[in-house]
Amino acid sequence: MSDTACLYIVPTPIGNLSDISTRALEVLNTVDLIAAEDTRHSSRLLQHYGIQTRTISLHSHNESQRSKQLIEKLEAGISVALISDAGTPLISDPGYELVNECRLKNIKVSALPGPCALTTALSASGLPTDRFMFSGFLSLKKQAKEQALLDAANSNITQVFYESPRRVKDTLLLCKSILPASTRYTLAKELTKTFETYVTGSIDQVLDYLQADPSHEKGEFVFMLYTPLTCKNDIPSEAISLLEQLFEVLPPKKAASIVAQHYDLNKKSLYEYGLKAKENR
Ligand code: SAM
Repeated sequence: MSDTACLYIVPTPIGNLSDISTRALEVLNTVDLIAAEDTRHSSRLLQHYGIQTRTISLHSHNESQRSKQLIEKLEAGISVALISDAGTPLISDPGYELVNECRLKNIKVSALPGPCALTTALSASGLPTDRFMFSGFLSLKKQAKEQALLDAANSNITQVFYESPRRVKDTLLLCKSILPASTRYTLAKELTKTFETYVTGSIDQVLDYLQADPSHEKGEFVFMLYTPLTCKNDIPSEAISLLEQLFEVLPPKKAASIVAQHYDLNKKSLYEYGLKAKENR
């Protein structure tokens, strides 16, 4: 194998064209071939920067077959840059099969740092950043989605998801119905673009923003949440959610007793948690 053969992972802007790095442009200019998720989409960026390198498509529908072809080229000493439509390739984008195969075959892989909606949104979210989990897009299946949200709220760390404008309101309505009221949210919209917006706060504050104007539901979204487990780390978020609802309508002891029985939990812990949560509201 040639010493020069390398697969470069090259992040591209997520909105603002000026966010591409000088090094990314250098790599795109000097490699033999650019593998792009959508060659037509990427041609606008490449034209804008006067890059004339040959492009080839690599998307979710041809990834296996195209990866094999690219491996052959890399083994023959051809250098390749991988780009996606926007942001960092492989982050909810194609490329995993190619990179994995390169690693198995000892082909050099070098990733350039750069734009990514996940890190951009998280860094300005106002939610804890010492530990976080990114799970890409939520499932379209209701039960799996509910479980993912409950797990997120039980995790005690910031959770980051990509969300489609078609589903963002329904997802937040679901959060309202199943997650503890103490959960804090940040919705990061249209990052690096003209109408970049961050909405942070309680579920009602975030829903108020989305429902205030139909245009607020349009655009690209990163959706983040953090549920502080201030009291008992062993109370699952679905129990907390029920407890909060029952505390509004029943005497505290009765509410704690029902939840304890339903989830097989300690009544006293629930009672104490409920009182504290109510005080803090
Ligand atoms: N690889 C990309 C990255 O590094 O961010 C993500 C690709 S994924 C297919 C596209 C999703 O990323 C969008 O549906 C949206 O959730 C999020 N996204 C991409 N650009 C964004 C932006 N400018 N503002 C907010 N979210 C964005």
